[in-house]
Amino acid sequence: MVDLSGKTRRELVERIKEISGQNPNLCMQCGTCSAGCTGREFMEFLPRQVMRMIQLGNAKALNCKSIWVCSTCLICTARCPRGIDIARLMEALRVINLRQGREVLIAEKIPVELLTQVPQMALTSGFRKLSA
Ligand code: SF4
Ligand code: SF4
Repeated sequence: MVDLSGKTRRELVERIKEISGQNPNLCMQCGTCSAGCTGREFMEFLPRQVMRMIQLGNAKALNCKSIWVCSTCLICTARCPRGIDIARLMEALRVINLRQGREVLIAEKIPVELLTQVPQMALTSGFRKLSA
Protein backbone atom coordinates (compact mmCIF):
# COMPACT_ATOMS: atom_id res chain seq x y z
CA MET A 1 0.00 0.00 0.00
CA VAL A 2 1.20 3.49 -0.84
CA ASP A 3 1.94 5.90 2.04
CA LEU A 4 0.67 9.27 0.92
CA SER A 5 2.37 12.59 1.65
CA GLY A 6 0.50 15.34 3.49
CA LYS A 7 -0.32 17.16 0.24
CA THR A 8 -1.51 13.97 -1.45
CA ARG A 9 -3.64 13.13 1.56
CA ARG A 10 -5.33 16.51 1.39
CA GLU A 11 -5.89 16.06 -2.34
CA LEU A 12 -7.44 12.65 -1.72
CA VAL A 13 -9.84 14.12 0.85
CA GLU A 14 -10.81 16.91 -1.55
CA ARG A 15 -11.39 14.42 -4.36
CA ILE A 16 -13.61 12.26 -2.17
CA LYS A 17 -15.57 15.36 -1.09
CA GLU A 18 -15.96 16.51 -4.68
CA ILE A 19 -17.21 13.16 -5.99
CA SER A 20 -19.50 12.40 -3.05
CA GLY A 21 -20.78 15.91 -2.34
CA GLN A 22 -20.35 15.08 1.35
CA ASN A 23 -18.28 16.62 4.14
CA PRO A 24 -16.57 13.77 6.00
CA ASN A 25 -15.28 16.21 8.61
CA LEU A 26 -18.78 16.39 10.09
CA CYS A 27 -18.32 12.84 11.38
CA MET A 28 -17.98 12.71 15.17
CA GLN A 29 -17.08 9.00 15.28
CA CYS A 30 -20.22 7.97 17.17
CA GLY A 31 -20.30 4.53 15.52
CA THR A 32 -24.02 4.51 14.71
CA CYS A 33 -23.22 3.68 11.08
CA SER A 34 -21.13 0.68 12.08
CA ALA A 35 -23.73 -0.62 14.51
CA GLY A 36 -26.42 -0.91 11.86
CA CYS A 37 -24.31 -1.79 8.83
CA THR A 38 -25.70 -4.81 7.01
CA GLY A 39 -22.30 -5.78 5.64
CA ARG A 40 -20.29 -5.32 8.82
CA GLU A 41 -19.43 -8.99 9.39
CA PHE A 42 -17.67 -9.13 6.02
CA MET A 43 -15.77 -5.84 6.38
CA GLU A 44 -12.17 -5.46 7.49
CA PHE A 45 -12.89 -1.88 8.57
CA LEU A 46 -16.31 -0.79 9.80
CA PRO A 47 -17.96 2.32 8.30
CA ARG A 48 -16.95 4.47 11.27
CA GLN A 49 -13.33 3.44 10.71
CA VAL A 50 -13.58 4.14 6.98
CA MET A 51 -14.95 7.58 7.83
CA ARG A 52 -11.94 8.30 10.04
CA MET A 53 -9.55 7.14 7.33
CA ILE A 54 -11.30 9.45 4.86
CA GLN A 55 -10.94 12.40 7.25
CA LEU A 56 -7.21 11.70 7.49
CA GLY A 57 -6.73 11.07 3.77
CA ASN A 58 -5.49 7.60 4.63
CA ALA A 59 -5.04 5.47 1.50
CA LYS A 60 -6.31 2.44 3.43
CA ALA A 61 -9.79 3.78 2.78
CA LEU A 62 -9.20 3.35 -0.94
CA ASN A 63 -7.63 -0.07 -0.68
CA CYS A 64 -9.87 -1.79 1.86
CA LYS A 65 -12.36 -4.54 1.11
CA SER A 66 -15.12 -2.77 3.01
CA ILE A 67 -15.90 -0.34 0.18
CA TRP A 68 -16.64 -3.25 -2.17
CA VAL A 69 -18.68 -5.12 0.43
CA CYS A 70 -20.93 -2.08 0.96
CA SER A 71 -24.24 -2.81 -0.73
CA THR A 72 -25.48 0.79 -0.66
CA CYS A 73 -28.35 -0.28 1.58
CA LEU A 74 -28.42 3.28 3.00
CA ILE A 75 -29.08 2.26 6.60
CA CYS A 76 -25.99 4.15 7.77
CA THR A 77 -27.03 7.18 5.74
CA ALA A 78 -30.53 7.14 7.25
CA ARG A 79 -29.21 6.86 10.81
CA CYS A 80 -26.19 9.18 10.85
CA PRO A 81 -26.89 11.91 13.45
CA ARG A 82 -24.69 14.33 11.47
CA GLY A 83 -26.65 13.83 8.25
CA ILE A 84 -23.71 12.38 6.34
CA ASP A 85 -24.51 10.22 3.33
CA ILE A 86 -21.96 7.52 4.11
CA ALA A 87 -23.09 5.37 1.20
CA ARG A 88 -22.10 8.19 -1.16
CA LEU A 89 -18.66 8.35 0.40
CA MET A 90 -18.28 4.58 -0.05
CA GLU A 91 -19.34 5.03 -3.67
CA ALA A 92 -16.78 7.81 -4.15
CA LEU A 93 -14.02 5.50 -2.95
CA ARG A 94 -15.14 2.84 -5.45
CA VAL A 95 -15.33 5.42 -8.24
CA ILE A 96 -11.76 6.58 -7.62
CA ASN A 97 -10.57 2.98 -7.82
CA LEU A 98 -12.53 2.25 -10.99
CA ARG A 99 -11.31 5.44 -12.69
CA GLN A 100 -7.77 4.27 -12.00
CA GLY A 101 -8.53 0.92 -13.60
CA ARG A 102 -8.66 -1.05 -10.35
CA GLU A 103 -11.60 -3.29 -11.14
CA VAL A 104 -12.84 -6.02 -8.85
CA LEU A 105 -14.97 -7.92 -11.35
CA ILE A 106 -13.28 -8.70 -14.66
CA ALA A 107 -15.46 -10.41 -17.26
CA GLU A 108 -12.68 -12.53 -18.74
CA LYS A 109 -11.87 -13.97 -15.33
CA ILE A 110 -15.35 -15.22 -14.50
CA PRO A 111 -15.43 -19.04 -14.81
CA VAL A 112 -17.72 -20.15 -17.64
CA GLU A 113 -19.56 -22.61 -15.38
CA LEU A 114 -20.40 -19.73 -13.03
CA LEU A 115 -21.87 -17.71 -15.90
CA THR A 116 -24.47 -20.40 -16.48
CA GLN A 117 -25.51 -20.45 -12.81
CA VAL A 118 -25.51 -16.82 -11.71
CA PRO A 119 -28.73 -14.87 -12.44
CA GLN A 120 -28.25 -12.30 -15.22
CA MET A 121 -29.49 -9.53 -12.92
CA ALA A 122 -26.79 -10.37 -10.39
CA LEU A 123 -24.14 -10.18 -13.11
CA THR A 124 -25.49 -6.87 -14.37
CA SER A 125 -25.52 -5.45 -10.84
CA GLY A 126 -22.02 -6.74 -10.22
CA PHE A 127 -20.66 -5.11 -13.37
CA ARG A 128 -22.33 -1.79 -12.57
CA LYS A 129 -20.70 -1.68 -9.15
CA LEU A 130 -17.44 -3.50 -9.61
CA SER A 131 -16.27 -2.73 -13.16
CA ALA A 132 -15.18 0.43 -14.92
S1 SF4 B 1 -23.04 7.62 12.13
FE1 SF4 B 1 -22.27 9.51 11.12
S2 SF4 B 1 -21.28 10.70 12.78
FE2 SF4 B 1 -21.54 8.58 13.52
S3 SF4 B 1 -19.58 7.55 13.01
FE3 SF4 B 1 -20.98 7.16 11.32
S4 SF4 B 1 -20.58 8.82 9.84
FE4 SF4 B 1 -19.70 9.44 11.80
S1 SF4 C 1 -24.71 1.59 2.84
FE1 SF4 C 1 -22.88 0.29 2.97
S2 SF4 C 1 -21.76 1.05 4.77
FE2 SF4 C 1 -23.86 1.82 4.90
S3 SF4 C 1 -24.98 0.34 6.19
FE3 SF4 C 1 -25.29 -0.25 4.03
S4 SF4 C 1 -23.65 -1.73 3.59
FE4 SF4 C 1 -23.06 -0.64 5.48
